[in-house]
This record gives sequence, structure tokens and C-alpha cells, in this order.
Amino acid sequence: MSCDFIALANQGVQKLLPYQTGKPIDELKRELGLDDIIKLASNENPLGCSPLVIEAIQAELKQVALYPDGNGFNLKQAIQQKFGFELNCITLGNGSNDILELVARAYIAQGESAVYSQHAFAVYPLAVQAVGGVGIEVPAKNFGHDLEAMAAAIQANTKVVFIANPNNPTGTWFERHEFEQFMAQVPAHVLVVLDEAYVEYVTDAGFINGFDYVKQYANLIVSRTFSKAYGLASLRVGYAIASADVTNILNRVRQPFNVNSFALAAATAALQDESFVKQSRELNSAGMAQLEQGLSALGLGFIPSKGNFIAFDTGRPCLPVFQALLQQGVIVRPIANYGLPNYLRVSIGLESENARFLAALAQVLR
Ligand SMILES: *Cc1c(COP(=O)(O)O)cnc(C)c1O
Repeated sequence: MSCDFIALANQGVQKLLPYQTGKPIDELKRELGLDDIIKLASNENPLGCSPLVIEAIQAELKQVALYPDGNGFNLKQAIQQKFGFELNCITLGNGSNDILELVARAYIAQGESAVYSQHAFAVYPLAVQAVGGVGIEVPAKNFGHDLEAMAAAIQANTKVVFIANPNNPTGTWFERHEFEQFMAQVPAHVLVVLDEAYVEYVTDAGFINGFDYVKQYANLIVSRTFSKAYGLASLRVGYAIASADVTNILNRVRQPFNVNSFALAAATAALQDESFVKQSRELNSAGMAQLEQGLSALGLGFIPSKGNFIAFDTGRPCLPVFQALLQQGVIVRPIANYGLPNYLRVSIGLESENARFLAALAQVLR
């Protein structure tokens, strides 16, 4: 007798479509036999990481047989020193994806709801669905979050609202006054996850910093990652800042060793190298200008972005364009699954990579 183990899975899980990752370079090598490939598909840092990180990882190699520090004391202390939060307000995650899942698992029960925007990061609906929650997707405004509509969409059974600033894959953002108005409308018992995965790339002096609001709003959780501007995507480390009570709860559902020793050491070192982040931000600004110019020269529209990527309108279904770029050894990201069937998202690379992407795109569209 065989059983239907698909039908036996939890209902939310049965309907899950797994997250689609950027295509790995090795996979394209295997498929097409190309050697010279550039990947501008996952918003990774084209400069790699700080040299301090490499040293810290090397020093950690001797301890490979030992479990990591399950409390991540050194990293939390480094976060405290840099940003001024008590250790009991910090939750470490296996990437900030882990943080998003911890929030869903701790706070959303079967049948309860969470609000997020159209074109928002795909992990929000996945995390909600996996725990049997109900997602409420609010139509975007100019590709970005319509915070007023999001606050109005909150139901009696809504536990969490997920917002990203800047958002991925659109690069859109909201301003301080919009956020403050939004927080004033959100009931005090509804948690707001403010995902700031790209905040280190923002160059505007007055840009909103979620950390400024954590003490004011007990229902606010700010998540950050080491995957983007710090260049540690492979190591999987991120963190959340929230009230002591929310942090207490998130740490109850966290795996005891969710962040490995190399990630802990690397992130601790990365926080010490502000100049690397500055260099990354500057390269990104120059690359963004290069891509905006190049896309405009090709007559293509794009969504203005404050992240390390830009989504542009191919003016036709994006998949054939994506495929043709793969043939040229250029990996970008189709975002049809984000409700943007004609758009591709390209991460900002080195100047030479951006130029190669633009040349390949020109050829593909010819
Ligand atoms: C990349 C990204 C993250 C971070 O992912 P990690 O798990 O930390 O690598 C979180 N939120 C958004 C919107 C992202 O684009």
C-alpha cells in the first residue's frame, strides 16, 4: 500500500512553491559548457568581503569540531558596540531569512493572517504559508509599498505586517513621514517587521533608519543581514533588533546553533570594517548610474532603486531575454514570479561586469 505523502503534508506546506534562487554559476557552466560567466542575479557584493573577514574565518578553522556559541555573544557584543542595543534585544539568524521564519513561527498560528505588499520579497508569503497562515497581499503603488493601504488591510486576526525598505526586487522605498504615519495606524498588538537588507547601500543622509524607532515602538522588529553590503551571503548570518519581550520569544523558537562559528566570527569582523562598506556603497552608486544610463540608452524603462540592483522593463516577456542572456554567460534574475512578467532584475556588479551585461543585453534585444 502506498500513501500519498504529498496529501499528508501540512496544508500550507502542500501548496508551497519553493523560493527560486538565482542561477548558480556552476550550474550554467554544466548546462552550456561556458567558462566565462558573470552572475548579477542575487544582489551579492561584487567586491567580495572585507580582508578582516578572511582572517577571522581562518582563525576559526582550528575549532571546526566544536559547536558554535549558541548565544553568539561576541557578535551580539559587536552589534551592541556599534548600534547601542542591549544584548537582550538582539536575535541572530541563519541569514535574515531565518529571522523572517522565526517571526512567522512564533507569532502566526494556523488561520491567522499577515500583510505584505505586492512585489514584496518572496520569503514573506512563503514564511506565512509554511505555518498555515493566510497572506494578505496589498496592491503596490508605483511598484512600491502603499503603506496607507497596508495599514488599512490589517484584519482582526492579523499578527504581522512585513515591509522592506528598500524593497527587493523593485528597489522602491518609503520616507520617514510615511513610515511614522503607518506606525501610528498599526494597532499596538500587530508586529511590524521592517526588513532593511539593503539599507547600507542607501546614500541619502535623511534616509529612515529602523534602529531609531525600536525603542519607540514595542511592536517593531528591524531585520538586517550580512549577505549584501557586508559580502557574507555564503555564510548565512543576519539579525533582528526588537523589544526584549519579542526577542525573548524569537529566541525560544530559534535552533540552538542556528548561526555557525565561521559566520559568527566573520560577521563580528565585518562590523569592524566600515571602510569596506563605504567602498561597496560608492561602487554601487557609480554602477547604478552606469546601468541607469545604459538602460536608458537602450530605450528601456526601469524602476528607480536604492538597493544594489535595478529592475528594468524588457518590453516583452522576460524569460526569452533571460535565456538569451544566459547564452552570453550573463546571469540576471527574471521576476515574473513577483508579478512583473516583463521585468528582469540585474544586480550592480563591477564596472566591467555592468558593461558586459549592457553589451549582451543590447545584442540580445537587437
Ligand atoms: C537578500 C534579502 C534578505 C536577506 O537574505 P539573507 O537570508 O540574510 O541572505 C532579506 N530581505 C530581503 C528583502 C532581501 O532581498
